[in-house]
Amino acid sequence: MVVSDIQSFHVAWFVTHDTQFDVTLRIGDGRLLGVESGRSVDAIDLGRVALIDGLVNAHTHLEFSGIAQPIPTAGRFTDWIRAVIAHRRAHPANVGEAVRAGLCESLESGTTLLGDIATSGWSSQDYAASQIPGIVFQEILGLLPDRIDEQRNLASAHQYRIVTPLSAGISPHAPYSTHLDLVHEAVDLARKTGCPLAMHLAETQAELELLAQGTGEFRELLTELGIWRDDPSAFGKRPMDYLEILSQAPRALVIHGNFLEEDELQFIAARPHMTLVYCPRTHAAFGHSDHPWRRLLEQGGQVALGTDSRASNPDLSLFAELQFLASQNPEHSHLDLLQLGSSAGRIALGLGGSDRANFTLVRLGDSSLNDPQRHLFAQTNRVCGTMVNGRWVWRQTDQSR
Ligand SMILES: [Zn+2]
Repeated sequence: MVVSDIQSFHVAWFVTHDTQFDVTLRIGDGRLLGVESGRSVDAIDLGRVALIDGLVNAHTHLEFSGIAQPIPTAGRFTDWIRAVIAHRRAHPANVGEAVRAGLCESLESGTTLLGDIATSGWSSQDYAASQIPGIVFQEILGLLPDRIDEQRNLASAHQYRIVTPLSAGISPHAPYSTHLDLVHEAVDLARKTGCPLAMHLAETQAELELLAQGTGEFRELLTELGIWRDDPSAFGKRPMDYLEILSQAPRALVIHGNFLEEDELQFIAARPHMTLVYCPRTHAAFGHSDHPWRRLLEQGGQVALGTDSRASNPDLSLFAELQFLASQNPEHSHLDLLQLGSSAGRIALGLGGSDRANFTLVRLGDSSLNDPQRHLFAQTNRVCGTMVNGRWVWRQTDQSR
């Protein structure tokens, strides 16, 4: 086959599962065609940069991208939810604008693939101009029969509303908000259409209390919202009950999983089509106890990374998420962390084959940064380009910034 659109770039570091220094990359037909040592005469020199495996934001909610500062996370989790509900009610008309702003921010922070959770108020037009492929998960939630009927219809229409380069996914929201029947139906839909499924699970101790005992701050919130019923069939008893159901989907993203127990981690680790999605800065903002991502990796399980939304995080940069994670875990190789922020996310979402030229360009802060294992996510490094399917979809033109 003749490839006519070959481009050649010279970079200081080329980082995927390992690192190659001082190389020329040949890219064409949307793929990486070859890597040669040194700078070839026809190559464009990109300067002191690292071209790295394309970053994947496996979990976000773009509809909140218009929020300038995160909603305070210091109090009870249910107080944060009350504030999120209030925000959504106060800004019903701004969803499309927020989605477009979030796509733009994602692009300009090096994201090459994303998993977005959408609720209501969006249109396919909001995503139509996206330069980033990914999955738009239609969120469904409800505890009472009328609401469940309505959400069932929303879910089944979703796959027809999504346009390229995005694909459809389904997301039963969380155990405290979504009747078990609706979770089962979401899994059935995922099986029927082959789409991936994402669900928030084991996010707080309060959620575990609601499941185990039917008490606590979530019961208070549901009562206040007028949707609490003494209906034991509405909830499982523990996160494992949900994992067993989710495992029937073609692909399942378990979002947060902050309080998963050992047998639940083992359950995920034994199933390659299940991924735990860790949102490092959001996790830290809520002050939860240690996240179990290392334990899952030790058991051979899969961990991907997400930013979550601007309702709990100051920005949508997956690179900033990796910088934070690297600073919190100095013993961890940055190359291993990159896998969580790139290939693990692609596998989780079931998109972006490994032969596609999806890369993030990073300007290296200074010449003392010479070890990718320790310096790839140094605080002075900056994302300066995003390549999707062999095409620059964003480049920072002012290189001094
Ligand atoms: Zn979320």
